[in-house]
Amino acid sequence: MRRHRRGRARYGRSGGNALPWSADEARQHGSIARRMFSEGHSYPHKGVDADNCGYCALTHGDADGPNYAGWARLYIEAKRPIPRQWEGAFQRELDSDKAYSHALRRSIVTFGGPRFV
Ligand SMILES: [Zn+2]
Repeated sequence: MRRHRRGRARYGRSGGNALPWSADEARQHGSIARRMFSEGHSYPHKGVDADNCGYCALTHGDADGPNYAGWARLYIEAKRPIPRQWEGAFQRELDSDKAYSHALRRSIVTFGGPRFV
C-alpha cells in the first residue's frame, strides 16, 4: 500500500507542470480508452494475434510494453491497472517525444497516476 502511494506521488510530480484536460476532453478520452478495453478483440480470432488485433496488441507485450501507439495514455485514461512488468516501459513513454509525453502527463493529472499490479 505504501509502495503504491509512493509510485503515485512520483508520477504525480512528473505530471505536475501539465494542465488537466478540459471536462469535455476528459470525457472523450476516457470514453475512447474504456471502449478500447471493453470491446475486446477486433474480430473473432483464436489465440493471440497481436499483429492484427488492437485489443491483443494493447494487452500483450514483453518488458518493452505493448506494441500499440499511445498505449500508456489509454491505460491511464481507462483507469486500467498496468502489469508491473511494464513499469519501465511506462517510464520510457513518459520520457518519450515531447508532444506525446506532455499529453500523457495531462492524462495523469486528469485521471490519476498509473497503478502497477
Ligand atoms: Zn485479439
